[in-house]
Amino acid sequence: MSKRDYYEVLGVKRNASEEEIRKAYRRLARKYHPDVNKEPDAESKFKEVKEAYEILGDKQKKAQYDQFGHAAAGAGDFGGGFNSQDFGFGDIFDMFFGGGRRSNPNAPRQGADLEYRLYIELKDAVFGKKVDIVIPRLETCDVCHGSGAKPGTHPDTCSTCKGTGQEEVVQNRPISIVYTRVCRDCNGTGKIVREKCNACTGKGRVNKKRIVSVKVPAGIYDGAQIPVPGEGEPGINGGPPGNLYVKVQVKKNEIFNRDGDDLVCEIPISYAQAALGDEVVVPTLNGRIKMKVPAGTQTGREFRIHGKGVPRLGGYGEGDLRVKVKVVTPTNLTEEQKQLLREFNRLTGEYVHEQNSTFFDKMKRAFRGD
Ligand SMILES: [Zn+2]
Ligand SMILES: [Zn+2]
Repeated sequence: MSKRDYYEVLGVKRNASEEEIRKAYRRLARKYHPDVNKEPDAESKFKEVKEAYEILGDKQKKAQYDQFGHAAAGAGDFGGGFNSQDFGFGDIFDMFFGGGRRSNPNAPRQGADLEYRLYIELKDAVFGKKVDIVIPRLETCDVCHGSGAKPGTHPDTCSTCKGTGQEEVVQNRPISIVYTRVCRDCNGTGKIVREKCNACTGKGRVNKKRIVSVKVPAGIYDGAQIPVPGEGEPGINGGPPGNLYVKVQVKKNEIFNRDGDDLVCEIPISYAQAALGDEVVVPTLNGRIKMKVPAGTQTGREFRIHGKGVPRLGGYGEGDLRVKVKVVTPTNLTEEQKQLLREFNRLTGEYVHEQNSTFFDKMKRAFRGD
């Protein structure tokens, strides 16, 4: 009895949305409902559709099914005799992943970790900043203090598993095995809530927004993670809370690039400034400074200004600011400027030629081929 693919059963593509899956299920469930459809195979078809939707309609089960196929869902051809009625989804997974040795459900467990992505400006990465971030997270319900039971009532110990959260199942065919699985009556919690707390609908936890102050240290790198201990989700059964990890993403800056602890920028200078030398204004992340460009500076030359880069994490000094000058060729010259440049060229033509005689010699040799 080989099983049909669940997507095939519902007649949807593998990348179908939750909505499409639900719609397909509703349509088919109506079509094959035994009260409506009197065809002999309607009931088995109805069951098949229902089973497919139980998996594909549940995010977690769907993900497991997508990865492991029917083996994950307790397929009929798994070991030759089990069928999915006896063998629920969690069971196989518990067996695969050691769930049979699941610990006491009443034992304290640490809450889940949370991750938060924080986008900051380069300036804040360099100098550091205190940021208040708002994180939505689960918190223990104030009304029932996490029990999930209506105030004044208490959850009962689950009678099926006697509070252990797991039950033993004896299977005789095809081979005799005994295994433990998560108790189906209490979902492994060991408790049954008879009267649910209204505030949290019996879950014991509610979604809340919380403001957490995070200190971004000076010199932090793009992609670095700041751990904030204890700001994850609350613990279970009195266990410690999880941690919050703030992942820092540094936004691109228009002027500066970062290279390790150095900041790198490029400034345009005129041909005259490069030739004659000048004092130019250079931007830094905290104001402007003046920098001397010596006479005869070539385009692309890099100047290093010590200590104007990024502070080293941990507080040991700073990197440098590296300023690359780019000589800009003038455009849109006035007639007077053109005239002066022609004059200049006439005066320096020989000079340039001489200065570059090595280059011209090389070029001549290259064309002659020796
Ligand atoms: Zn509550
Ligand atoms: Zn139970």
